[in-house]
Amino acid sequence: MLSAHPELVVYFGDKGDQLINYDPKVVASQLFAKLDLLKQKFGVGRLVLLDQVHGTCAHVISKSETQKYFSKQGDILVTNVRDTALGIMTADCLPVMLYDPVRRVIAAVHAGWKGSISGVTTAAVKLLKSKFHSRAEDLKVFLGPCACVCCYEVSKDFMQVLESWKSIRIFVSPRRYFFNHPLYVTEKLVSEGILLESIKTNTNHCTICDSNFHSHRRSRGSPDRQISVIFLR
Ligand SMILES: [Zn+2]
Repeated sequence: MLSAHPELVVYFGDKGDQLINYDPKVVASQLFAKLDLLKQKFGVGRLVLLDQVHGTCAHVISKSETQKYFSKQGDILVTNVRDTALGIMTADCLPVMLYDPVRRVIAAVHAGWKGSISGVTTAAVKLLKSKFHSRAEDLKVFLGPCACVCCYEVSKDFMQVLESWKSIRIFVSPRRYFFNHPLYVTEKLVSEGILLESIKTNTNHCTICDSNFHSHRRSRGSPDRQISVIFLR
């Protein structure tokens, strides 16, 4: 557990939480029971999770809303309500947590490569600016565990679909390309005005080579997931 501020908790879980991906076709009572336990552990009244779909759709969680786990589809959660934890489930995708200590608002973003290329982190920052009057220079960002450049090999075609691919390409050998997803997202955040020194990467472990974490690629598609959580105390 990482506490960056007296009024904020940011948690990046690992295999220890023993969670699996939500599947709307499967009865999820075991998963829900484990999430209830986590909620107790955090001491929060609500834990909100979306049915993540690798898009850019956002949900603002209000005080009155009662929310069942995974009842809405989307990849961005935002709230300024205390005691309301926002959760993201991943296994190689990048969980991005945002905090505005001035406006007292938080966001949790599920950024897979598809979502990142579609602008999911930019959409989250723009929502904080438009709806909560956040200033980019006030925002703090925490990057969680994801597939990192040491292991995230992609095709040359993939690299060429990224508009700024030259700056993020890591050329290892004549035929091998590795995607630096955290750096790609960092560049997007900085282009929205967020200060580079406000983007914390000490929790951005590589899920593929660090066996403490679940990896979709290393496990060849297993449904195991880790959870990342942010909430205002
Ligand atoms: Zn690695």
